[in-house]
Amino acid sequence: MRRKIKKIVVLVVAISSIFSYLYFTLNQKELEYSFNGSYYEVINNNIPYFTEEEIEEAEESYEYYGELDYLGRVTYAQASLGVDLMPSEDRESISNIYPSGFNQYTNEEVLGNNYLYNRSHLIAFMLAGENDNENNLITGTNFMNQELMLPLEKVVYNYITKENHHVLYRVTPLYDKNDLVATAVLMEAQSIEDDDISFCILVYNVEPCIEIDYSDGEVLNADVECDYTQTKQTDESQYILNTNSLKYHRLNCDDADDIAAFNKEILYANSATARMMGFEPCGNCKP
Ligand SMILES: [Zn+2]
Repeated sequence: MRRKIKKIVVLVVAISSIFSYLYFTLNQKELEYSFNGSYYEVINNNIPYFTEEEIEEAEESYEYYGELDYLGRVTYAQASLGVDLMPSEDRESISNIYPSGFNQYTNEEVLGNNYLYNRSHLIAFMLAGENDNENNLITGTNFMNQELMLPLEKVVYNYITKENHHVLYRVTPLYDKNDLVATAVLMEAQSIEDDDISFCILVYNVEPCIEIDYSDGEVLNADVECDYTQTKQTDESQYILNTNSLKYHRLNCDDADDIAAFNKEILYANSATARMMGFEPCGNCKP
């Protein structure tokens, strides 16, 4: 009898998680997005798609990684993040994992010493300590992984460690049809004990100067005329973020010199996006 009850419970949990996934994927299909030069796009008026039930269940930490789909692609990762999930051990190698479309590419002229692709964690190692979990690693450009996702991850990390609160968090790669490489990832976050953290932001999986075939991860074109570092420096809409104080600064602001290295990130986006991410303009440089 006991065993039967256990089986039923497992079945109910399995069915409800399938339904919540279906619900989300159906919802997601209504998203319309295409890269137009802005690396971030605010979705659904910046309101994450979490259900009331999911928010209620987020008082305690948990983490869940969706199974790979029929094409071997990562589906999504969802967690109620708390300090108890954060890693106590150092990060280990993840090079044994080959996410779908991981067609590695180098080009010193365009990328310097960087590889084009990273094994990008959906839920960052610093947030949940997942190392080589194949359900949590996608083929992400170096630029998306290191420059675009990281500021948002650090905002969440700093908030949780400071407040000892929970953040309901979901990262979903979005693929066009049967593409093996995601066009973008949707990052959703909602703090549970207060409303300080709340965003629903799509981040494009792109690399400046490189054109990618998302169906298989091959490079279609690498623009050697395009100076990678210069592209980053001359973009007008760039700000310096303090991911701890949640202030953003103009690139030449003196106040930005004092930001601790861990908390200091460049935001490759406009002022409106900085505010949607939860940042406030510095009173000194008034960006
Ligand atoms: Zn400033």
